[in-house]
Amino acid sequence: MKLPSRSKSYMIPEYSLTGDLLSFLTCNLQYRYQNKGTLPPSKPVQRWFGEFIHGVLEEAYLQWKYNQTQFPWDWKEDIRPIEDLIDLRLQVRGLYPHDEDLFFSILNQPDEELTIDDLNEHDHKKLASARAEKAINIWGEHLFPLIDSSELLIKGVRTMPNYDENISRSNYYGINGVVDVLTSMKINKSLEQSNLDNFNNKIIAFLKKDSDFRKRIAEYEEGDDYEIIIDYKGMKRPPIKMNDSKAEDKWETHKQQILTYSWLRSKQEDAKPIIAGIIFYLNELVPSKEDLVLIKDELNDGLTDVGYEWQRDVELIENWQEEDKAPELSDEFKIARSIRIINVNEDEKEEALKKFDSVVADIENSLIKEIKGCKIQDAWKADSDERTCSACDFKTFCKNNSVKTKDFKIP
Ligand code: SF4
Repeated sequence: MKLPSRSKSYMIPEYSLTGDLLSFLTCNLQYRYQNKGTLPPSKPVQRWFGEFIHGVLEEAYLQWKYNQTQFPWDWKEDIRPIEDLIDLRLQVRGLYPHDEDLFFSILNQPDEELTIDDLNEHDHKKLASARAEKAINIWGEHLFPLIDSSELLIKGVRTMPNYDENISRSNYYGINGVVDVLTSMKINKSLEQSNLDNFNNKIIAFLKKDSDFRKRIAEYEEGDDYEIIIDYKGMKRPPIKMNDSKAEDKWETHKQQILTYSWLRSKQEDAKPIIAGIIFYLNELVPSKEDLVLIKDELNDGLTDVGYEWQRDVELIENWQEEDKAPELSDEFKIARSIRIINVNEDEKEEALKKFDSVVADIENSLIKEIKGCKIQDAWKADSDERTCSACDFKTFCKNNSVKTKDFKIP
């Protein structure tokens, strides 16, 4: 009797929008070491802030939902305990802030009898805390009432680009992502109100001002439901054009992220038409010195889309020097720069999916080369901008880094 042999295991490779697409586009080789080699970055400060602000906003929303705390929230009473909670969660995962970003976690000092009152005004002004407070008090008040669901996991399957049964690992690949916030119905109703001008929801006011959004709304019957995808970014607003050809075009990749999310969401059973996405660039609410230098350059070079209409703010930034105190920018300027509306257009959505397919094809090509015995540095392209290379843990042995490491000494 012939015993049947067990069939080969069938595995579909999974790719995530933020973990794979954005990170591969930053630098292929760095992505290989960090994601495929599971070598975490030694100083993941950028990652810390991104995760921190997401965690704080998610927790703040849950607390608002259950306690209905009125805005503005008090930093010591309402916000600081949330920061502590999120900081501790991140510490468990090996993610720590810089000293200048966040006050130490009170709950993490079991030997010391510290209370929330031991915090002083100086600590209030630490960067991450200041941004968390502004994000909650400026946007939370307008965003939380519109939320339908948060931290929504979305998944989909696509055919493997350039599939070849002798070479490819699988005939399909999986895409996944987490939508920070999904708004539905409620925003729809608000837009239909006749007294729109009196309605003081800032998010709706920004949507109303967007002519493309108004055109999209007009395509639907009154009373139809639709959804808006919202994503938070712990960074400044990216420039609309890149001066450095090596740097990843974040403006474009963020748009692709929203468009791909909208495709994934549309595959879910309870989905309603997705008309637009909103990205909140939260660093704009409290820009750091490094952010201000970039904002100044981008305003001067015409590389940004929002800001010129606030002449006083533009002048303050133009006259500001790095050694000066940060300029007192108006709330209107900061708020307008922190929100970006991306309308979901079917053709652009198709283009974004093709782009995702081509990134997956590049990752799969490099993986297959490596599986066949090619050296890592030959299988994965090393190419990035100076800023990324200077913070990269692999710059000392990477052949193509943009930063000279001749001064590097082995202790
Ligand atoms: S040093 Fe630069 S090019 Fe090399 S792996 Fe790091 S980011 Fe990529």
